[in-house]
Amino acid sequence: MTDVVEQHEPQPEKINLLGLSPKKMEQFFVDMGEKPFRAQQLLKWVHQIGIDDFEHMTNVSKAMRQKLSEIACIEYPEIIYHDVSKDGTKKWVMKMPGGSAIETVYIPEGDRGTLCVSSQIGCSLDCSFCSTGKQGFNRDLSVAEIIGQVWVAAKSFDKPGEKRERRITNVVMMGMGEPLLNFDHVVDAMDLMMHDFAYGLSKRRVTLSTSGVVPKLYDLAKVSDVSLAVSLHAPNDPLRNQLVPINKKYPIKELLAACDHYMNSLPDRRKLTVEYTLIEKVNDEMEHAKELAELLRNTPCKINLIPFNPFPSSGYKRPSNNRVYKFRDYLHNQGYIVTIRTTRGDDIDAACGQLVGNVEDRTRRSERHIKMRDITQGGNETTQVQS
Ligand code: SAH
Ligand code: SF4
Repeated sequence: MTDVVEQHEPQPEKINLLGLSPKKMEQFFVDMGEKPFRAQQLLKWVHQIGIDDFEHMTNVSKAMRQKLSEIACIEYPEIIYHDVSKDGTKKWVMKMPGGSAIETVYIPEGDRGTLCVSSQIGCSLDCSFCSTGKQGFNRDLSVAEIIGQVWVAAKSFDKPGEKRERRITNVVMMGMGEPLLNFDHVVDAMDLMMHDFAYGLSKRRVTLSTSGVVPKLYDLAKVSDVSLAVSLHAPNDPLRNQLVPINKKYPIKELLAACDHYMNSLPDRRKLTVEYTLIEKVNDEMEHAKELAELLRNTPCKINLIPFNPFPSSGYKRPSNNRVYKFRDYLHNQGYIVTIRTTRGDDIDAACGQLVGNVEDRTRRSERHIKMRDITQGGNETTQVQS
């Protein structure tokens, strides 16, 4: 007699519909032998109404709901922490499979509501003033994990029985990670942000921020028309090499040429946003302001100054308001549109560069960084990661 071993067929993984771009959603239904208009219905249920249960989709037949629940799911990131600041800023920490966590921030400002979205767990680029960079890199986020941040934020404003108000008017890809290094997923997620049957945001109000992955900017020009922000932070290559190491590969001249190319590829006239984090006595002297004004002379842009947001052991200081205003005034007098990014959500650590999440670092950079800090500062903290 032989033993009978029960064989279990491996169950195919369900497709998470939250992460399907409009085009892929259509293909999904076509592959099922269904009409493409089903995609519109699903997009509306998932993104506009915020439904995560097929049973609630009243204009979808029972048979179709049954079929969908067998092969698909709607799964959004798990929220492990949520806080609201005195100024209305909201912050979510979301758990990612594998033990890491990412952060998403919502900033209300008059009739605008801006959501700052993460694209990766950590970042591989290691800019010297950025706490995300100091935590190393784990992995790219999936489309579902990127758009899931918008889904969760939009849902948080829902009131039972009432039609959803559009509280998110702008999205900036300025959370954790370098969006151009997670190109395909970020492009699909941004398509959902702008799609009429999903979040319906204007292309002018979805902004991708990059530290300067030049070849990917040319690729972006072929597939997207979102607004662009570039993290410049220095007016010359030697200084930028120190602050933004990817500059050694793609120096300023090449970066500005790629930004020009992207801006010229847009169907309408828009200005490039130049982000410049001001760090005391590093890049905030008058000579830097003068050099910056010269550098950007032929680039239609607005300059966004971000006073450095300190984090433990960064070794950098935030300049005084006087220094910040002096820098701004000089550029302003040179004819530039200049804004200063005010720190919001101070009481809940929601400022730029303070989005720390919790990165299960694969590069072991955070370990090296902590070791270096201990050597140089004699510090004895064992971790700078906040969960
Ligand atoms: N990787 C992308 C987007 C995420 S960072 C990029 O670098 O553009 C979003 C913005 O916050 C960038 O301009 C970045 O330089 C800035 N930033 C990072 N750390 C900061 C800090 N500690 N203080 C102020 N701004 C910071
Ligand atoms: Fe990465 Fe941007 Fe931080 Fe640089 S500033 S380490 S590119 S997230």
